[in-house]
Amino acid sequence: MTTTSPDEGRFGTLAVHAGQEPEPETGAIMPPIFQTSTYVQPDVGAPKRGYDYARVQNPTREALERNVAALESGEHGIAFASGLAAIEAVVKRLSAHDHIVTEENTYGGVMRMFTQVLEKLGIEFSFVDTRDPDRIRDAMRPNTRLVHIETPTNPMMRICDIVAAAEIAHEGEALLMVDNTFASPFNQRPLDLGADISVHSSTKYLNGHSDIIGGVLAVNDGDLAEDIRFVRKSTGAVPGPMDAWLCLRGTKTLHVRMERHNENGLAVAVFLANRGLQVIYPGLEQHPQYDLASRQMSGFAGMVAVELGDPARARTLATGTHVFQLAESLGGVESLISVPALQTHASVPKERREAMGVTEGLVRLSVGIEDIDDLLEDLDQALNQAVR
Ligand SMILES: *Cc1c(COP(=O)(O)O)cnc(C)c1O
Repeated sequence: MTTTSPDEGRFGTLAVHAGQEPEPETGAIMPPIFQTSTYVQPDVGAPKRGYDYARVQNPTREALERNVAALESGEHGIAFASGLAAIEAVVKRLSAHDHIVTEENTYGGVMRMFTQVLEKLGIEFSFVDTRDPDRIRDAMRPNTRLVHIETPTNPMMRICDIVAAAEIAHEGEALLMVDNTFASPFNQRPLDLGADISVHSSTKYLNGHSDIIGGVLAVNDGDLAEDIRFVRKSTGAVPGPMDAWLCLRGTKTLHVRMERHNENGLAVAVFLANRGLQVIYPGLEQHPQYDLASRQMSGFAGMVAVELGDPARARTLATGTHVFQLAESLGGVESLISVPALQTHASVPKERREAMGVTEGLVRLSVGIEDIDDLLEDLDQALNQAVR
């Protein structure tokens, strides 16, 4: 392939350049932060290039959207105030009595939104273990409009076969939405595998610096993009220009950061496995879905779960590290450690949580991009206290 412009290169070139041009007035290489709520119109009802109000259009946000669309090999990107807002906007295209099939081990906040907010408005949900595509097929109904999967899932690293899920969704005339937050487009591109929507909490790897809350999704279909933009304009969950700009600064280094997250994630998983611990990481051959993960992902990112078998040990490990910081969230340059059952997944009912393996002895690591030896030494000393 010959590259004719930086907008058409390979992944790293796209990350740095896609969707942006030097600012015409001065040549500023970074898109300006258009910190404005409105735009002056030359004549009544004749906005310049369509810019009338910043809930609807903002050039900084649009640069981010074009950039992420390119990374996801999609035609359209749409940015939101948070990952949850992005997922909610897709669901709000539907009507009462429409049905959604969704992964049961989806992110705790998504589960809470589905069961405690959207179900009340008459949207119907089936929660299934999407590791087995037949469970998705069995849950499909005539009124199923959307299949929502997450792969790998948080925090159990379940893998769902995106190609199979897309086929099943499309047979039932439903759309497939994939939460691609854990993999990032560097490692997995759902639209290329048949998904209709790839959605992110850009709070995590896309931004990568733990300094914003954001969401973004990518689609190929123009009508679908228009529908989702209509919901966003009508409900208002837009990111501010400063956050969009920070996220764009983050996506420029996504490929470089993800290489290190992939390397460090694997090294930590191997280290924990060699200590005889029960590690859950899709890049380890012992992961029950390693073959599928290797087929649809090119790397396995920095999320590692480890079952210590006992809540007290989990607590000792989570409070005993010095480089790994005890905090929720993930995907930033710094390593984090958490106990999902007591933190991110505390709102999931205990029985449901434990049935999926999210016990109080399960520790989740978001492995950052620090020097691996420091990370391993840190885990080693904390494990010496936790597992005697
Ligand atoms: C964090 C997260 C979300 C929610 O995103 P916010 O930006 O916090 O609203 C959704 N899905 C996954 C997998 C997440 O990790």
